Amino acid sequence: MSVRSVMTYVNHVIKRHPDAETTATARCVHPDCGWEAAPTSSATECADWAMEHTGRTGHGIFVRTFSEVAVVVRADAAEQEAPQ
Ligand SMILES: [Zn+2]
Repeated sequence: MSVRSVMTYVNHVIKRHPDAETTATARCVHPDCGWEAAPTSSATECADWAMEHTGRTGHGIFVRTFSEVAVVVRADAAEQEAPQ
């Protein structure tokens, strides 16, 4: 007895979930400082807050984090969503 199977491969893409937004945060890494920017959907706003912190304290090194909710969809479905 032999077993045969047919395997098909479908291309997928990953993209930002349409109902979610990107979140940006920044944390000062100066050893005597615990400053951290509140999460925001604006990367520009987060950058402004970090630069204001530098202006007040002289601390100029930050860990910046950008996150988003992503979704994986079939590539053919994603192509249908693309604007013409
Ligand atoms: Zn600081």
